[in-house]
Parts: sequence; structure tokens; C-alpha cells
Amino acid sequence: MPIFEYRCQKCGAEFDELESIDNCDKPHKCPACGSRRSERQLSVFCASSGDGGGGAATCPSTGST
Ligand SMILES: [Zn+2]
Repeated sequence: MPIFEYRCQKCGAEFDELESIDNCDKPHKCPACGSRRSERQLSVFCASSGDGGGGAATCPSTGST
């Protein structure tokens, strides 16, 4: 399962959860304050930094233009 990042809208805490695709958009409980007003952050799958390979890092989920 992929890891999704969430940010609590109440206290601003960021946390990540190992979650299935089906559940990724459901509210997740903030480990810091217990609020379930969390929003999912952008996936980190496509985050490619520090790679000097010269290859274009394309995100498969962005689709074609
Ligand atoms: Zn919180």
C-alpha cells in the first residue's frame, strides 16, 4: 500500500498513513490533537529531487496534456 501524507486542519500537524487507495480520501485522525479534520497532501510518489541522472521525472498520474 502507498503512503499518503495528511495535514491536520486544526493544529497543522503533518502525518503520514499507510493507506489503501480506497481509503486515502477518507478523514484520518490527527495523532497530535485527535481531530479528524485532516486533508490529504499531494502524493510524494513523484517527488524526485537530487537526482542528477538527467532523466525527466514524469508523474504518471498527471496524465497527458
Ligand atoms: Zn491535529
